Amino acid sequence: MSRPVEASIDLSALRQNLNVVRRAAPESRVWSVVKADAYGHGLKRVWGALRETDGFAMLNLEDAIQLREWGWKGPILLLEGFFHADELELFDKYRLTTSVHSNWQIKAIQDARLNAPLDIYLKVNSGMNRLGFTPDRVSTVWQILRKVPNVGAMTLMSHFADAEKSEGVERPMQRIEQAAEGLECPRSLANSAATLWHPETHYDWVRPGIILYGASPSGQWQDVANSGIKPVMTLSSQIIAVQNLKPGDTVGYGSRYTATQEQRIGIVACGYADGYPRIAPSGTPVMVDSVRTTTVGTVSMDMLAVDLTPCPNAGIGAPVELWGNGIKIDDVAACAGSVGYELMCALAPRVPVVTV
Ligand SMILES: *Cc1c(COP(=O)(O)O)cnc(C)c1O
Repeated sequence: MSRPVEASIDLSALRQNLNVVRRAAPESRVWSVVKADAYGHGLKRVWGALRETDGFAMLNLEDAIQLREWGWKGPILLLEGFFHADELELFDKYRLTTSVHSNWQIKAIQDARLNAPLDIYLKVNSGMNRLGFTPDRVSTVWQILRKVPNVGAMTLMSHFADAEKSEGVERPMQRIEQAAEGLECPRSLANSAATLWHPETHYDWVRPGIILYGASPSGQWQDVANSGIKPVMTLSSQIIAVQNLKPGDTVGYGSRYTATQEQRIGIVACGYADGYPRIAPSGTPVMVDSVRTTTVGTVSMDMLAVDLTPCPNAGIGAPVELWGNGIKIDDVAACAGSVGYELMCALAPRVPVVTV
């Protein structure tokens, strides 16, 4: 190994997290959401560990085709559907399920020349105002699509903006009820937060993403600490230099940290070009030699500094966990004003990845 930074992906944790989903939603089938290259974990690396899932949901047609070529024969759902009518030929060829959220897509499906009907997920706008038809239009759109020969099985799909809040699905569920009135339709509504915390949203298919990877949909690890989910990604490195500071000495760019007493600090081979958030301030948790400590000073492109006061025996070569089982990615993200989702997706391509 050259530079000691590394991400390791724990495939058994992924399998365990899928089981947590199964226990949380025992009556539902599961779309494992693997968009953004499986939330930064690498689709190719992880999909096999999730093969007990009922289907995979993603955004990229190219990824969906890859999954077919690697041998996945089960359902694949494209969460944003097709972006251009041309793509329907490939949806047809690879038997992909598409979401339908806009009028132009209906016309494109009507006009397409397909070998067999495509299954579709009709998207209802639950109030989030990203994608989907407003509830008052759904019944009409549903009836139109039901008569289109190119359309196979139909499912009503929606999404929640606030499912991590205790009353966050109430209004959206009313809108979804309004949309579904009079329709005999399977439903798929629940993201991770709704899967864990709102059983009334489960219906036919749940769509968990973040909990499969072992972070919290709320951004707060304590909210999932007792759920049985386990972090999948560990970002680790080593101490590559040690500095002994005197009172008044500063650390790093902008001299944003000043020692108030004699202090040993360690320099870690990991920086923002590896995906560690530059904005994370002094005081962000980090683990050195299995001891919890904190970062000091500004994160550089290739390095960051840590306080070695709590671990006086740690020197050059000491192992550092930036996030993983000891330091939860949610806690690092919270210090950086973000969420675990963003940090895991931002793991840089230059970081070597191993699977365990
Ligand atoms: C990303 C996404 C999900 C999964 O969300 P998590 O919060 O990661 O569980 C589910 N459904 C849709 C439409 C999504 O875009």
